[in-house]
Amino acid sequence: MKVIFASGNAGKVAEMQQLLTPVGFELTSLQDFGLAGAEETATTFVENALIKCRAAAHQTGLPAIADDSGLVVPALHGEPGVYSARYAGADASDADNNAKLLTQMAQCTDRNAFFLCCMTYMRSATDPTPIIAFGRWHGEILREPQGTGGFGYDPLFFVKAHNATAAELPADIKNQMSHRGMACRALLAQLQDRS
Ligand code: IMP
Repeated sequence: MKVIFASGNAGKVAEMQQLLTPVGFELTSLQDFGLAGAEETATTFVENALIKCRAAAHQTGLPAIADDSGLVVPALHGEPGVYSARYAGADASDADNNAKLLTQMAQCTDRNAFFLCCMTYMRSATDPTPIIAFGRWHGEILREPQGTGGFGYDPLFFVKAHNATAAELPADIKNQMSHRGMACRALLAQLQDRS
């Protein structure tokens, strides 16, 4: 099945391609259509995912999958949360965001954090029954970056079970464990139930 993945984030697109191609999806990205992502105007992951999903379905006429995700740090009262991509400003790079996170957590002894992913599927822009799935991945925030793989906050996100950061994990292991992998599998299970 051909679907549009409503993201301009190359790291996410690569992970989603790895997750969905083997199970029969032909994933196209906003970049393939020369489209920019919809503005994320909401304050929750689920609302932002639906905004992106609906816009991509509307712009392309294809069924759409969207992912709204981010890092949640309880010691920072949930920051950066839905603002993860723009934590250090509208045009912030991953390095800028990581640097800001380290500054904000300088005095924090509680280093717990989790990634949250809300993934949605809409058959069309007017689909009244979107599929909505969630995934969570728990870890700890290091005091300095470690590893060069992945994207976003991966170099600071330490995964105890592997004694490594998300940026040091092979892509297939990250997909097995991650919030996005988990949400994607939950989404596929709901899609199968529906058909
Ligand atoms: P979104 O495009 O608004 O969903 O923003 C997602 C942002 O959350 C990314 O730009 C990253 O900063 C962060 N993020 C989400 N998933 C991951 C991940 O798997 N690894 C590292 N950072 C992530």
